Amino acid sequence: MPPNAQPSSDVLTQPIQFLKGIGPKRAVALEKYGIRTVHDLLFHVPRRYLDRTDVVKIGELRKIASSSAYAPPMAEASADTRRDVTVVGDVRSFRLIGAKGKARLIMVLGDQTGTVQCVWFGGVQYWRSAFRIGELLAVSGQPTLYGGVLQFVHPDIDKIRDAETATETDDDEKYDDVDWSKTYNTGGLVPLYPSGQDLARVGFDSAGFRRAIHRALEASRGRIQDFLPMEILTTRSLRSLAEALEGVHMPRSTADLPPSLHRLKYQEFFLFQLKLALTRRERRSDHSGIVFATRSPLARQLVDALPFELTRAQVRVIREISADMAADHPMNRLLQGDVGSGKTIVALLAMLIAADNGYQSAFLAPTEVLAEQHYATLTSLLGTMPVIVRLLVGAQRSVLRREILEDIREGRASIVVGTHALLEKDVAFHRLGFVVIDEQHRFGVLQRAAIRGKGTNPDVLVMTATPIPRTLSLTLYGDLDVSVINEMPKDRQRIQTLLRDDDARKEVYEFVREQVRKGRQAYFVYPLIEDSESVELKAATTFMRHLQGDVFPELRVGLLHGRMPSAEKESVMAAFKSKACDILVATTVIEVGIDVPNATVMVVEDAERFGLSQLHQLRGRVGRGAEQSYCILLTKRWIAQRSRRTRRAADPSEEEHRLAERRLASMVATTDGFQIAEMDLRLRGPGDYFGTRQSGIPEFKVANILADTELLDLARNDAFALAERDPLLEDSRHAALRKILREQFSSESSLASAG
Ligand code: ADP
Ligand code: MG
Repeated sequence: MPPNAQPSSDVLTQPIQFLKGIGPKRAVALEKYGIRTVHDLLFHVPRRYLDRTDVVKIGELRKIASSSAYAPPMAEASADTRRDVTVVGDVRSFRLIGAKGKARLIMVLGDQTGTVQCVWFGGVQYWRSAFRIGELLAVSGQPTLYGGVLQFVHPDIDKIRDAETATETDDDEKYDDVDWSKTYNTGGLVPLYPSGQDLARVGFDSAGFRRAIHRALEASRGRIQDFLPMEILTTRSLRSLAEALEGVHMPRSTADLPPSLHRLKYQEFFLFQLKLALTRRERRSDHSGIVFATRSPLARQLVDALPFELTRAQVRVIREISADMAADHPMNRLLQGDVGSGKTIVALLAMLIAADNGYQSAFLAPTEVLAEQHYATLTSLLGTMPVIVRLLVGAQRSVLRREILEDIREGRASIVVGTHALLEKDVAFHRLGFVVIDEQHRFGVLQRAAIRGKGTNPDVLVMTATPIPRTLSLTLYGDLDVSVINEMPKDRQRIQTLLRDDDARKEVYEFVREQVRKGRQAYFVYPLIEDSESVELKAATTFMRHLQGDVFPELRVGLLHGRMPSAEKESVMAAFKSKACDILVATTVIEVGIDVPNATVMVVEDAERFGLSQLHQLRGRVGRGAEQSYCILLTKRWIAQRSRRTRRAADPSEEEHRLAERRLASMVATTDGFQIAEMDLRLRGPGDYFGTRQSGIPEFKVANILADTELLDLARNDAFALAERDPLLEDSRHAALRKILREQFSSESSLASAG
C-alpha cells in the first residue's frame, strides 16, 4: 500500500505515478498519450485479444496459405470478414532489400516447427528498429505464399515478451506457454494493447501495458466507487464500473467482453453529454443576453428586393434565429446547410435585425478569399440600402486599416466582415451584438471566445457548409441549438458528376470549350499539398500556361492561388465574376464560398488526392445557377485500369487505391452532402475528418461515435433527462457524478464551455 493512500473513492484519480514501477520518465511518455491518472490507464483498453484457440504452429501455415478457406477474398468482399491467423515465435533475422524509396524489410520469425517471413514495403526503418532478435512476438494476418516462400505482409504484431526474459524459459515451453497461462489470464484470452514507438522505448509495449494495468487493477480492487446513479445502472442493465474494468482487462471468457465494453462506452458518452446538457441549461437560465426587437424594416426591405423567393427552409431557420434573438439568453446556434443552400442571406437578415436595434455584427470567415467573397456578396445584396459594411483582413495598408478600425470603433460600420484579423487586440467595437462564424470548424475554441469577448454577450450564429453527420454534431455541437436548411433553392438542377481518367483528357477539354461557347465558365482545380507547396504552385502555374497556350488559346484563362497578395486575388476573382475570364485555374483556395452562378463546369485534377468532403465543397462551386452543371473528376490512369489488372498480393499502395476508388465512386453516386459526410467519416475515421485535432472533436477512448450511435442516443437522452431533473447535481445520489465531471472537464478546454 502506498504511503499516501487516499480515501477509497480516489484511487482512480491518482496520478499515474501512484503505481509501482512508474516513475517520472514513464509518466512523461504516457502523458503524451493522454494517460495521466490511474483512471486514464484503465481506460486504455485492448486493441484486441489474442485468443489461444486462434494460435497455430508455423508448420501449419503452408497448408492454411494454400487452402481456399483462407484465400484472399475477391475484390468486393470486405477485409473484415477474413479471420486472421496468429503464430507465436521469436525473431531470428532481419534483411533489408532494395534501394531507398523502394526498400523492403524482411523479418524471419520462427518457432519449433518452422519459419515464416514478415514483410514490410513501407516504414521499413521504423519496423526495423521496433523489434530485436530473440524477442517473442505474436504475429497475426493472412499467410501467403510468394514464390513458394511463406509470408505475412504487413502483419499485426504484438510483443509477448522481450529478448531478455524470453530466455528464462526453456525452448519448447516459450512458444506454448506464453504469459497467458501464468499471470494474467485463465481463459485463454490475452489482451493486446495499443502502443507506439516512444511508449515501447520506456517499456510500454503491449506486454508493458498488461503488467501496469494489472497492477492498477490490483491496487484499486474493492476501492472503485461507481458514480453512475443506481437508477441508471438498473434501468440500462449496466455492469458496475469495477466489474467492467476487470472484464475488459482480464476477461474470464469472450462472453465477458461485450457487457464490460458496453458499460465503459455508455459512461464515456453519458459524462460527455451530461456536461453538454448542464452547459446548455446554464445558458438557458442566463438572462444577460441582448433582447432584440425582431421587427426589422431593413430585413423587410432586403427580402422585398431579392430577385428570388426564400425557400421554406430559409424562412423557418430565420424564424428560429429571430426567436432566439428576441429571448434574453445569449444565442448559441448552429446553422447547418449544404453548399449552395443559401446560408449567407439568412445570416445577413439576422445581421440587419441587429443593425435595426443599433448593434454591430461581426462576420468571421476562415480565409481572406472567403472574407472578400462574403464582403462582395453582402454589399451587392444590400445595394443602395443604408448599411455600412467594412472588410478587415490581414494584408491591408495601414492607412486604410486605421480608417476601418475607426469605423468599427465609432460604430459607423454596422457589419464587419473579416478573418482572424478581427480577433486582434486593436479591434474594438462600438456595440457588438451579433456574431456570425462561417465554416466554424476551422476556428479554434479560443478564437470563438475571443470574438465573443469583443461584445457584451452577443448572440452567436455558427455556420457550417460542411454537412456534419448527426452523430458527430451531437458531440461537436451538442450544447448548441441547431437550425438546418434542408432544402435547395427550387431552380437548381442536380450536378452531373463524371469520373474520367487521363485518356479522356481531350474530350474533357472539348466539353469545357463547348460550355464556354454557350456562354458559361469553368474551373480547373489543381491539388496543392502543404509540404511541397512551392513545387506544386509551380506546377499549377505551368498547368495554367499550358491550358492558355496549348489547349485554349482562344479563351481567357486565369489563375488563383492562396499565396497571391490579396489585391491580386481580388482582381482575379472580380475578373472571373464579371466574365472577363472564361476559365479559372485554382488551387483549393476556392474550396469554400466562391459564388459565381455562371460557372457550370468544375474539373478536378488528380481527384484521387482529395478527401470526399473537400470534393463535395469543390463541386458546390458549380450548380449555383439555373443551368445544368458538371463536375468532372480527372484521375491518373490507374483508377480505371486497376480493375483490369491482376491484383498483386504484396502491393502496399493497393489499399490506398481502393479507398480512392470508393471515394470517387460515392461522389458520382450522390450529391447529398450528408451522405457524403457519413461516407467520408467512415472511410477516414473521425480523427482525420476535420484535418486537425484542434477541431475540438472529443476523443473517446473506448466508444466509437460511428459504430456506437445507438448507445450515444441512449446516453444522451439519459444525460439530458438527468440535467432536467437536477440541473445543479444537488441530489446526494449525484454527488459522485458531480465530482467526476469537475475532475474530467476542468483541465480540458471543453468545447462546451466556449461553444
Ligand atoms: P451557401 O453559403 O449556403 O453555400 P449561399 O448563401 O452562398 O449558399 O447561396 C448560394 C447561391 O444561391 C447564391 O448565389 C444565392 O444568392 C443563391 N440563393 C440563396 N437563396 C436562394 C433562393 N431561395 N432561391 C434562389 N437562389 C438563392
Ligand atoms: Mg457560403
